[in-house]
Amino acid sequence: MDFGFTQEEEAFRKEIREFLRQELGPERKERTPLELFNPDFSRKLGEKGWLGVGWPKEYGGLGRPYTQQLIYGEEMLYHRAPAGAHILAQNMVGPTLIAVGSEEQKREFLPRILKGEIVFCLGYTEPNAGSDLANCQTTAVADGDDYIINGQKLFTSFAGQADYAWMTVRTDPNAPKKHRGLSMFIVDMKTPGITVGKLDTMWDYALYEVFFDNVRVPKTAVVGELNQGWYYLTTALDHERIFMGATVAQHRRLFENLVQYAKETHHNGKPLSKDPVIRQRLAQLAIDLEIGRLFGYRVAWLLGRGIVPFSEASITKVFTSELERRLANTAMQILGLHGQLEREPWAPFNGYMEWEYRFSIMMAIGGGSNEIQRMIIAIAGLGLPRP
Ligand SMILES: Cc1cc2nc3c(=O)[nH]c(=O)nc-3n(C[C@H](O)[C@H](O)[C@H](O)COP(=O)(O)OP(=O)(O)OC[C@H]3O[C@@H](n4cnc5c(N)ncnc54)[C@H](O)[C@@H]3O)c2cc1C
Repeated sequence: MDFGFTQEEEAFRKEIREFLRQELGPERKERTPLELFNPDFSRKLGEKGWLGVGWPKEYGGLGRPYTQQLIYGEEMLYHRAPAGAHILAQNMVGPTLIAVGSEEQKREFLPRILKGEIVFCLGYTEPNAGSDLANCQTTAVADGDDYIINGQKLFTSFAGQADYAWMTVRTDPNAPKKHRGLSMFIVDMKTPGITVGKLDTMWDYALYEVFFDNVRVPKTAVVGELNQGWYYLTTALDHERIFMGATVAQHRRLFENLVQYAKETHHNGKPLSKDPVIRQRLAQLAIDLEIGRLFGYRVAWLLGRGIVPFSEASITKVFTSELERRLANTAMQILGLHGQLEREPWAPFNGYMEWEYRFSIMMAIGGGSNEIQRMIIAIAGLGLPRP
């Protein structure tokens, strides 16, 4: 067992930190998801080759081990680097295309993803298909050399900014089981018949609904094999949950700010850092952050050995998303009424906590709710029967 990083890994971490200091400045600025959408920054990462740290060299990646991919993820999240424009393509679409895409699709999309040139959104959720994704009702019907798509997607992150949708559609309505009749499509968001509407959310996130009204796409839009979409979807979702585990680095940064605040702030003439309740709360968070970090490392370690971390990715996702809520709750208690101040320069953490408190609810829902993750852990991890 070795808990340290190699010299080469530490050098890579230093290189990333220096790049981020140059690009983002020394200031520890917090950014909300919309501020994190920055295509110019994505292209700069593309020039460094960092959008494909762990991708195989034959597809233009750096072919580095998973530990380096983890280090890259930790540093980007810790420094709150803008990732909105590339994160879905880099972490979910690209790796799944490498595994199952046709040679034409790999040639067409992988180089552009690696350069940070194209933005993808993920079209899975629908009004009647959220936790039960196999219930997808958006249809694609063959018509000559094309398919005609009709239906609606819901809660689609970054659909308003995306060039392409990576989406599930029903191609066989008569399949004996509903998950067998699904296919994965890549659809150009500029295709006539697509309408995108912004949704209001309590955390100001870039969430949209997307309507497909007789949208004609070529048959080359089908990813891999027809009616195998369920397997491609679960592969992409695995990659999504693996990535979510790395978010603990972002929580660590907020925690460090909180500890600093407790050291510097006095209440009723006493430093907050001497309040026994606050000390207990901060110590508990320190324990949680350490556990979350080790879960993330375990997933990277499994991936490095060619093992797909199925229930382990769900464990990491549940733990880190609930840790984010505990962190936001504790921060609100420590900041008191100041925590409710919105983004003003004179508010503690520039008013970031008010937003983070609202946002901390979302990670337990996005990427598959935590109830569903616990079901996966029960079935895949513990071998319990399906309900
Ligand atoms: C910030 C954010 C970003 C998102 N981005 C995207 C995106 O880019 N693309 C996309 O396709 N979707 C996206 N989603 C949607 C997200 O994946 C769904 O909201 C989520 O899967 C839950 O589906 P639902 O909202 O339909 O809730 P439902 O499935 O209706 O669930 C409602 C509640 O019932 C519980 N529940 C449901 N079934 C069971 C069961 N069998 N056992 C126990 N409990 C159950 C759920 O856990 C949940 O608490 C995003 C969501 C959020 C919050």
